[in-house]
Amino acid sequence: MSDLLERLSRLPLRDNLRGLEPYGAPQLDVPILLNVNENTHPLPAEVHQAIVAEVSAVAAGLNRYPDREFTELRERLAGYLGHGLEPENIWAGNGSNEVLQQILQAFGGPGRTVLSFPPTYSMYPLLASGTDTEYIAGVRSGDFGLTAEDAARQVREQAPNLVLLCSPNNPTGTALGLDVVEAVYAAGEASNTVVIVDEAYAEFAHTGTASALSLLPGRERLIVSRTMSKAFALAGARLGYLAAAPEVCDAMRLVRLPYHLSAVTQATANAALKHIGALLANVEDIKGQRDRIVDELTRMGLKPAASDSNFVFFGGLEDPKRIWQGLLDAGVLVRDVGIPGHLRVTAGTEVETTAFLVRLEELLADGA
Ligand code: PMP
Repeated sequence: MSDLLERLSRLPLRDNLRGLEPYGAPQLDVPILLNVNENTHPLPAEVHQAIVAEVSAVAAGLNRYPDREFTELRERLAGYLGHGLEPENIWAGNGSNEVLQQILQAFGGPGRTVLSFPPTYSMYPLLASGTDTEYIAGVRSGDFGLTAEDAARQVREQAPNLVLLCSPNNPTGTALGLDVVEAVYAAGEASNTVVIVDEAYAEFAHTGTASALSLLPGRERLIVSRTMSKAFALAGARLGYLAAAPEVCDAMRLVRLPYHLSAVTQATANAALKHIGALLANVEDIKGQRDRIVDELTRMGLKPAASDSNFVFFGGLEDPKRIWQGLLDAGVLVRDVGIPGHLRVTAGTEVETTAFLVRLEELLADGA
């Protein structure tokens, strides 16, 4: 038993938290961080300056609680998403992790279930246990794919209270077809299942990939979650949001803590959203580096999964731990997501990506 688990075992923890380890992507101090799918480009100067000015303006009023309804922010997010969405369709939290937690607080809980399809975002089981919701691990095909038919069948069999679909999926990077979302939603009709599509990486999808936002009209059990942490390069600001029917947002009001979005967070997000063009300026560059990684890994004889995100999941490694360590020794941190033969790497700037590719090729040659 690890020291941490040993210490925790002395406490009167809730039964469903016993034996669990906290979310633990290593935060190491190395020059090239390609492990948690951040946007590795710094904020554009224009956005930085706008944030400083807007935060400075609200700082004098921090003796007061912030706008509990974050009205301006909901207007701006609705405007950004388009698809005919209005501010009453939008809810936000401190990162999409908090938004997902609030959804589980409202629609999950003791005696309720959430179905997801591993390998997928590692926080889903932890959000489930934290809200005392039973996590059901659905099954994907051998190549990590998920067809509409297969997903719908599992929803009918399990009749879960919630389904969490991640598209583009973390860690595999691949987007789901909208047919999967439609089929899952229809299959959940009988069980009144709430369907969440986590689109944290949507902005990096290949041109022409449709968002589940287009499916929202007429589907009041469908929720699409998004974040400013990835394409918007604002992981440190902690701002995630969802789009859904207005009544879903009302349900969030039942579980949120009062004034959960600080005035500083709201000012930061609002300032950034006034500069959407600059904010998204690096997305095309990142997509280019992502495609370059897929091409180069294929050339090296590895097996990268198709990626619609800012990261690449790749297999074909005999000893991923040796490669992970060898990259780290060269100052490049990637992610071992615990899937045999595989690693995951975030697309960096051109220089960072080159450093990763060069060192990886050397390590593969050393092991040959
Ligand atoms: N969903 C997915 C699929 C993610 O990969 C992440 C972050 N790694 C999140 C949600 C949460 O991001 P945030 O809380 O920063 O919005």
